[in-house]
Amino acid sequence: MAQAKPRVLVIGGGFAGAACARALHRADPQCDVTLVEPNPTFTACPSSNSVIAGLRDIAAQRFRYEAIRGEGITVAQDEATALDPRARRVTLRGGSVFDYDRLVLAPGIAIRWDALQGYDEAAAAVMPHAWWAGDQTLLLRRQLEAMPDGGTVVVSAPPNPFRCPPGPYERASLIAWYLKQAKPRSKLILLDAKDSFSKQRLFESAWRQLYPELIEWISLSNGGKVISVDTKTRTFTTDFATYKADVGNVIPPQRAGKIAQIAAVADATGWCPIDPVSFESRLQPNIHVIGDAAIAGAMPKSAFSANAQAKVCAFAVAALLRSETPSSPKLINTCYSLVAPDYGISIAGVYHPMNGQLADVEGAGGVSPLDAPPDFRALEARYAEAWFRTITADTFG
Ligand SMILES: Cc1cc2nc3c(=O)[nH]c(=O)nc-3n(C[C@H](O)[C@H](O)[C@H](O)COP(=O)(O)OP(=O)(O)OC[C@H]3O[C@@H](n4cnc5c(N)ncnc54)[C@H](O)[C@@H]3O)c2cc1C
Repeated sequence: MAQAKPRVLVIGGGFAGAACARALHRADPQCDVTLVEPNPTFTACPSSNSVIAGLRDIAAQRFRYEAIRGEGITVAQDEATALDPRARRVTLRGGSVFDYDRLVLAPGIAIRWDALQGYDEAAAAVMPHAWWAGDQTLLLRRQLEAMPDGGTVVVSAPPNPFRCPPGPYERASLIAWYLKQAKPRSKLILLDAKDSFSKQRLFESAWRQLYPELIEWISLSNGGKVISVDTKTRTFTTDFATYKADVGNVIPPQRAGKIAQIAAVADATGWCPIDPVSFESRLQPNIHVIGDAAIAGAMPKSAFSANAQAKVCAFAVAALLRSETPSSPKLINTCYSLVAPDYGISIAGVYHPMNGQLADVEGAGGVSPLDAPPDFRALEARYAEAWFRTITADTFG
């Protein structure tokens, strides 16, 4: 009798899940791979800050699943709503039931709607987060366009860990770029729940040069941590003061996507502890967690990390299905940020399993030089666009 094909279910068709389904199908064409994703079109967050600044069309952010289907992978357009880890069974909203040998969870983030007083889903329609790309991105763009010259934009950044550590600072930079061109009497206040942030020296140096009177960053120690918001008055309240916004962008605290909580693979932090070699959950056997939802040690929550983890996980799952031991990986992350359309900066890191976590490989990686000339910054801005084309082609085909 022919051996049954091993069944792997991948939940979430973003940078992690889509890349994992493709890598697994290539690593083991005999494997029966199903990707579950509710949206027919994926809208990418990287480069969405450029949409907010009016530098890019949202259409450039959108990707479909035809190429993945064309490779022979089943894509179920549905949402996973229930999971029985013992029975290895997942139920979708539409009622279908899938049994699996191994499950990969890649649901991205959920927003902690209970973390900031006054900030719930209804409030996001007035003071957008734009931390999932799509309608929220366009709403923030429209609000900036409608704001009169001389207005105040307030952006609040959450505590660590959260999706895309340099993201709030790139966003503040590109909004400032737009204000400088279109509404030069305006101001941007960046309220932060932290005292330091990714690529900080590079961002601050660029802000001094490009937006000296425009951006004001208020750190945790200076009272930047937002504790509540009020959509009626568009105000942000911190421990120290209240800030009135004409346009308010709340980037709230986050945790792993809801299905991770349902699957009981998230711990008390809200994120998912994993084995750094196989990305198998430390809380449930046969379930792997990749991308933003995972606790990946020193690796930041980025699309590049998600894509890299996806491939490592795919090879580990293929090995485990053959009853082999997965080999220890090295992973890379590179992240470009735009401070202006022709001003890019970057950070890169290399990671490996160490003492049960993903740790930095000492001496590898680095950031853009602090004293680089303008043509270097312009080149990095072009690399950022090339990076986006490469990662999206690698993930979605
Ligand atoms: C403004 C901004 C700028 C950014 N810029 C960069 C950048 O320049 N470079 C970079 O590397 N990263 C960047 N990022 C970070 C990057 O977007 C994320 O790290 C990346 O999307 C994580 O991939 P993921 O697959 O874990 O999650 P996602 O890409 O969010 O994918 C998760 C998918 O899972 C699906 N899903 C969720 N729950 C279920 C369920 N129950 N059933 C089925 N499907 C489900 C969702 O619909 C979604 O499609 C940025 C993020 C933001 C917000």
